This record gives sequence, structure tokens and C-alpha cells, in this order.
Amino acid sequence: MEVSSIAVDESVSTVFPPEVLRDALAETVDTAVVDAGIDSLEAYDAVVTMAYHESYLDDVNWIHSIQAGVDRFPFDELREHGVVLTNSSGIHGPAVGETVVGYMLSFARRLLPGVKSQTKREWSPPEWDEAYTLAGERCCIVGLGTLGRGVADRASALGLDIVGVRRSGEPLDGVQTVYTPDDLQTAIRDSKFVVLAVPLVDETHHLISTEEFAAMRDDAILINVARGPVVDQEALVDALDAGVLGGAALDVFEAEPLPEKSPLWESEDVLVTPHCAGFTEDYYRNVTDLVQKNLTQIDAGEELVNRVV
Ligand code: NDP
Repeated sequence: MEVSSIAVDESVSTVFPPEVLRDALAETVDTAVVDAGIDSLEAYDAVVTMAYHESYLDDVNWIHSIQAGVDRFPFDELREHGVVLTNSSGIHGPAVGETVVGYMLSFARRLLPGVKSQTKREWSPPEWDEAYTLAGERCCIVGLGTLGRGVADRASALGLDIVGVRRSGEPLDGVQTVYTPDDLQTAIRDSKFVVLAVPLVDETHHLISTEEFAAMRDDAILINVARGPVVDQEALVDALDAGVLGGAALDVFEAEPLPEKSPLWESEDVLVTPHCAGFTEDYYRNVTDLVQKNLTQIDAGEELVNRVV
């Protein structure tokens, strides 16, 4: 594959201005022209993007997704058209890890109800037995890749006991027990926090549904930084309404933006963030490094890193 021109798609503006990435790439890449603000990609070999457009199939040889999740891309069609897809897995650990412990602290230290009361100018301290500290609480992290490890490192530093779930079941430093997906219900059963950090694939669609909510503690907090459809959202709302779940911190939803009518906006025990758990001002630099690395791989005739298709 030869890459002498790269387009930065407008869709990256959800995370950073396209021009910022264009300038950073243009500064580090001397083997390819880099442009942003383009209508047609016909003249380009590669595109760095967040969205998928069908025209990519005929226009480019290489798509780099600025996200780790690539569930929006049609793998079979890309393969048929000989289009290579790489993702940005590996860059989100610190940002998502910090966001997730932020969610945990918001519940344990009652910051979430505090902020909700503040918006109503209400002085309402928690009941004597509502606040707790994180040390000694059990946290189950479902998915122990970049995100899961980012969470595990930071949560264990705060004294939480960490267990986890991954496909391979292979042990991981700092994680007391690693389960396979077959033992998901055992893994989540005694955990105060259940953190979802898996890719959205057929096997993880509605991974957490009515049965899993029944298996979880009634005071458990569900944290979803993976993808919305990993959770059966209707079952989540039912579990919250029935009081069989303590609360939820959600960065991702079955429909995004979260529709105005969703009951999740109103729920006392729900913290909603707009799919930004991985945001950081360094995001474009991290993507630049990945694209640069792969251009070097291409020049050397080596396999691309983070290749998905
Ligand atoms: P990785 O590929 O590094 O890790 C994925 C992990 O999930 C691995 O540990 C893998 O197991 C595990 N896994 C895969 N399938 C299953 C399954 N069926 N049951 C249990 N575990 C499973 O991905 P990342 O950590 O970089 O990202 C994970 C996902 O998080 C992304 O695909 C994306 O959708 C989402 N994401 C969300 C962000 C946000 O802003 N909210 C930011 C970045 C990512 P094994 O280790 O055995 O292979």
C-alpha cells in the first residue's frame, strides 16, 4: 500500500478540531500530504475519521478510526474492497480510568446528589449512613484491555478490590480473580461497582440485562464506558425503578445523543455524561502518533499496528 495523501474527515470534530489534527500530522509526516475540510476523498489514499461513509469503499485504501470502538464499520465490505481499517485502541486508558474513578467517587462521597441539590439551591447533607469510602469495596471490570487496565490501576490505588472478566480468562497483575464470560454472573455478584469496558460485538450485545441485574447487589453501581448496546437499557431503567440496582454512571447509550424523553435524565441515582469519558486535550496528539507509526510501518513493508481489517 502507498499513502501519499491523507484526509482528515470533518467527523473528528466531535473530539477535536480537524485542523488541529491536520496541522499536527503535517508537522510530523513528510511522506504524505495532509488536508482537512474536504468534500470528496477521491484524490486521497487514506482518511482519519470518526464516522463511516460508504464512499470510503471506493475512494481510499486505508481508514484510521480515531475511536477504539469500530462497531460502526462494515468489516466484510471493507475486506471485499481491499480497504484496511485501523483503530485507536491503546490511547484511552488514563483518561477513561480517571473518569471511571471520578464516577465512583461521585457516588461514594455523595458528590452526585450534592451537585443535584446545588442546582436547586438546596442544603441537603447525606444521611449518616449514605456516604462511604472506596477502600475495601469490590469492583468488577468487564473487559481488561486498555480501558479495563486504566480503570484497574487507578481503582486499586484507591484501595478497591478488583476482579475482572475477559475472553481469555488470563490473569492480570492487580486483578485478584479473572473470570471468563461464562462466569459473568459469578464475577459481578458481590461487586459494589460493575464497570463495562468491552467492545460492542455480537457476544457483548445486551451483555447486561434482566438476569445480570438480578444477580448484582441491590446497591451496586453500574458504570458503562463501553458502548450503549452492551447494556439492555430498558432492563436498566426497570432495575432502577424496582430498586434492585443502586445507581448507574453512563457515558454511552443505545441512542446517542440520549433522547430528551429518556427517563435516565431524571433518575436521582444516574450520572449521565455525553460519550466523553476518553476526552483529553492530548487526544489529537495520541492519534497523530498512531498514524505516524503506521506510516513508518507501511514504508518498512511491516504489518500495521491496531489493524482491525
Ligand atoms: P481492548 O481491545 O484493549 O480490550 C477489550 C477487552 O474486552 C479485552 O480484555 C477482551 O478480552 C475483552 N472482551 C472482548 N470480548 C469480551 C466478552 N465477550 N466478554 C468479556 N470480555 C471481552 O479495547 P479497549 O479497552 O481499547 O476499548 C474497549 C471498548 O471501549 C472499545 O471497543 C470501545 O467501544 C469502548 N471505548 C469507549 C470510550 C469512551 O469514551 N466511552 C473510549 C475508548 C473505548 P481479552 O483480553 O481476553 O482479549
